[in-house]
Amino acid sequence: LCTISSGGLVAYSESQAEPGSGIPSEKKKKVLVLGTGWAGTSFLKDIDISHYDVQVISPRNYFAFTPLLPSVTCGTVEARSIVEPVRKIIKKRDGEVQFCEAECVKIDAAGKRVYCQSNIDNNLVGNKEFSLEYDYLVIAVGAQVNTFNTPGVQENCHFLKEIEDAQKIRRTVIDCFEKAVLPGLSEEERKTNLHFVIVGGGPTGVEFAAELHDYIQEDLVKLYPMAKDLVKITMIQSGDHILNMFDERISSFAENKFQRDGIEVLTGRRVVNVSEKEVAMKIKSTGESCSIPHGIVLWSTGVGTRPVIKDFMEQIGQKNRRVLATDEWLKVKGCDNVYALGDCASIDQRKIMEDIAIIFKAADKDNSGNLNVKEFEDILDDIIIRYPQVELYLKSMHMSDVTDLFKDPRGTDATEVDIEGFKSALSHVDSQMKSLPATAQVAAQQGAYLSRCFNRMEQCEQNPEGPQRFRGSGRHQFRPFSYKHFGQFAPLGGEQTAAELPGDWVSMGHSTQWLWYSVYASKQVSWRTRVLVVSDWLRRSVFGRDSSR
Ligand code: FAD
Ligand code: MG
Ligand code: MG
Ligand code: MG
Ligand code: MG
Repeated sequence: LCTISSGGLVAYSESQAEPGSGIPSEKKKKVLVLGTGWAGTSFLKDIDISHYDVQVISPRNYFAFTPLLPSVTCGTVEARSIVEPVRKIIKKRDGEVQFCEAECVKIDAAGKRVYCQSNIDNNLVGNKEFSLEYDYLVIAVGAQVNTFNTPGVQENCHFLKEIEDAQKIRRTVIDCFEKAVLPGLSEEERKTNLHFVIVGGGPTGVEFAAELHDYIQEDLVKLYPMAKDLVKITMIQSGDHILNMFDERISSFAENKFQRDGIEVLTGRRVVNVSEKEVAMKIKSTGESCSIPHGIVLWSTGVGTRPVIKDFMEQIGQKNRRVLATDEWLKVKGCDNVYALGDCASIDQRKIMEDIAIIFKAADKDNSGNLNVKEFEDILDDIIIRYPQVELYLKSMHMSDVTDLFKDPRGTDATEVDIEGFKSALSHVDSQMKSLPATAQVAAQQGAYLSRCFNRMEQCEQNPEGPQRFRGSGRHQFRPFSYKHFGQFAPLGGEQTAAELPGDWVSMGHSTQWLWYSVYASKQVSWRTRVLVVSDWLRRSVFGRDSSR
C-alpha cells in the first residue's frame, strides 16, 4: 500500500499468485506457525503450500470452537463436538503441512529459531526438546488467564479458557450437588457447597452464569429436590454494570433478566483474595471489606500475556506491554519476518497527523498549495484504508458529507484549504483510534488476511518498488488489515439471547436465540462438528442435560 500512482495515494495488486505453480521444495521458504486457535487455523486454511514449507507448533492437536465452551461446562454440548483435529484441517491435496504437538518455550528472533518442548508425558522414546528454524514466523499463541496476582486465585478458582477447563467445571458442579446432599451436613454447609460464584461480568462470565442457571433449574433441581431452595449463583463485577462492552440496552436487559432469575449481581467490588472456602472482596466506593462462602468460583476477568511472549517482547524492545505491537500489516514492530495475530497481538495504528504533510502533497495534484473539495474527495477512500480512524471520526461527528470537514467556524463554506486548514480539519481524527477487541472474529479475519498476503508476497517481491513509494518498503503494496465487525452475541439463558449487530442494531429475546443457533451452527469448522453440535442441542431439548459425573 501507500504507493502513489496516477490514481491516488494507494496502489496495490489484488491478483493472486498463480495457483499450482509449485516451486521445488528446497527453494521454498519455511513458514512456522505457533498456535492452532482461531488465528492460527484460519491462516493455515488458506496458505498456499505449493509456495511455502509450512510447519505448525501447538501444545494441542486440535482446534476448539471457544464460543461454545460455556455450553460444555453444563453438558449442553459435549466437548468432542466442538473440537476438530488440526491434522484434519491442514490435510491438503498438493503437499503436506507438518504439525508438531509441542509448546514453544522460546523465540530467538536474531537466530530465526524457536525452541520447543513436547508435553506428551509417557515413556515413549525420543526427544522432549527440540528447535526449529524459520524464514517467516507467524505467532498466534493467544493469551492466558489473568489473575492480576490476586492471592489464592490460581489455587482455588476455575478458569474457562480451554476444553479441559470446561470439562473440569462440569465435573465440579456435579460434585457440589452430590456433596451438598450427603447426610450429616448443616444447612449452612449445604448452602456453601451450592453457592456458585463468578468473578467477572464480561461475556464469558455472563454466559456461564446463564448456562449454569438453566442447567440447575431445568435439570438439577428435579434430580436433587433437596437442593432446590439452597442453591445460589452470585456474580461479582468490578465495574458498575455487567457486559459493559456491549450497548447499554443489552447490559440492562441482562441485569434485569439476572435479577428475575435470582442471580445476584454485586457490582463495584474488587476481589482481593480467594481461599478454599471464601471469596474476599473490597467495596470500591466505601473501601469496606466483606467476604462470601463458595462451593466453586469461576475466575473470568480478562486476559494476560503468555510467558513466551513476555520474554520475546523483552528481546525486541517491547517491554511493559500486555500484547505484541504490530504494524497494520500484522508484522511485529522492531523485528523482521515475524508476524503476530489474534489475542497475543494488537495493531499499532499509525496516526494521520504524523503523515499529514505527505498526504497533503499527494492530494494536491495541481501543486497549487491548496486542496479543493474535489482533490480531497479523490483521495479520501485511500486515506480511509490507511487510517481507518478517519471513518470512525466522520461517523462519530455524524458527518455524512466529508466536505463538512472543511466548514470553517465562522460559517462561511471554504472551498479550499491550505496545509494549516487541512491539519486543523483532521486534528481530532486520531482521537478515534481504537484497538480491536480480543475476539475470535478478529483473530480469524487476521489469519485469513495474512495468508492472502503470504500467497501474494512472491509476486510483490518481483516488483518490490511498485510505482512510486509513499512510505516504507515493497511489502506496503498490500492493503493494511481492516476489520469488519459482524456483530456480537450475548446468550442470557432461558432461550434468550442479546445481540449487537452492525449499524447500531440491537436485538434481544427468543428470536435472537434462533439467530444465535443458526449462526453458531454455520460457523462450525467442519460438517462433522456441525452435525455433532446440532444433535447435542436436539438431545438436550428432548432428554435434558446429562448429570452424571
Ligand atoms: P487461541 O484461539 O486461544 O489459540 C491459541 C493457540 O495457541 C492454541 O491452539 C494454543 O494451544 C496455542 N498455544 C498456546 N501456547 C503456545 C505455545 N507456547 N506455543 C505454541 N502454541 C501455543 N470470541 C468471539 O468472537 N465470540 C465469542 O462468542 C467468544 N466466546 C468466547 C468464550 C470463551 C469461553 C472464551 C475463552 C473465549 C471466547 N472468545 C469469543 C474469544 C476467542 O476465543 C479468542 O479471541 C480467540 O480464541 C483468539 O484467537 P487466537 O488464535 O489468538 O488464540
Ligand atoms: Mg491461534
Ligand atoms: Mg481457539
Ligand atoms: Mg489482538
Ligand atoms: Mg490544489
